[in-house]
Amino acid sequence: MDLQQTDLYKTQRARVENHVKTALAQDRSLMGLIRLALQAQRSCQENTDSFNPQDMACLECGSGCDYCCHPPVSAAVPEVANIVAYVFNHLPEAEQDRIMARVEQVYARVHPMSGPERTSSNIACPYLAEGKCSIYPVRPLACRGFNSTSRADCQTVFEQTRKDHQIPAYVPLLASAQGLKEGLLGGLRASGLKTPLVDLVRASHKLFAELEENLERWARGADVFSDCKPF
Ligand code: SF4
Repeated sequence: MDLQQTDLYKTQRARVENHVKTALAQDRSLMGLIRLALQAQRSCQENTDSFNPQDMACLECGSGCDYCCHPPVSAAVPEVANIVAYVFNHLPEAEQDRIMARVEQVYARVHPMSGPERTSSNIACPYLAEGKCSIYPVRPLACRGFNSTSRADCQTVFEQTRKDHQIPAYVPLLASAQGLKEGLLGGLRASGLKTPLVDLVRASHKLFAELEENLERWARGADVFSDCKPF
């Protein structure tokens, strides 16, 4: 099924894109940018809550299963800013230090890689800790939408070097998250913001080094994330 042809994808994308354009015309502060990510995440949760639990019973995703936390993740810049702010504002200092050290380590390994090298590398996301997402309340839309109705297929993809095997999924959840993400990106692009889609590790590395100044420059139109493109 072509997700982009579903009504859910189209309505979410159009609504968020319009909202983001209007919001950015009035407020490009750090908080304003983070709010855009929070609003998209809240919409994603509301959509998820509205789905029929019986339909979602087919999902085989569960706590401790982390196959999907090894491929590269792409996110909108405000989503990454929201994650970094969450780490600083909500996690204990020891956890902040652990995450920043892990981002540094993973960045050093993956940044020089080509796309195919990174995709087949199976390097865990730096936010993964003991099989769980340490920033779960603010995880990116890409992670929120990804779902599987076959744990066995996820294991197969993880263990094989060919990564193009299609994992069966619950389509409404994917359509909702992708529509929201594309709406967010569309609004950012239409507002003149450059390289709005970034690799989670690369952009986290940049924003942990300097959050406010990088975001302020980006909001004024500088191409701050040109070296953080997705793989
Ligand atoms: S952000 Fe969280 S859910 Fe997403 S890949 Fe990383 S650990 Fe997994």
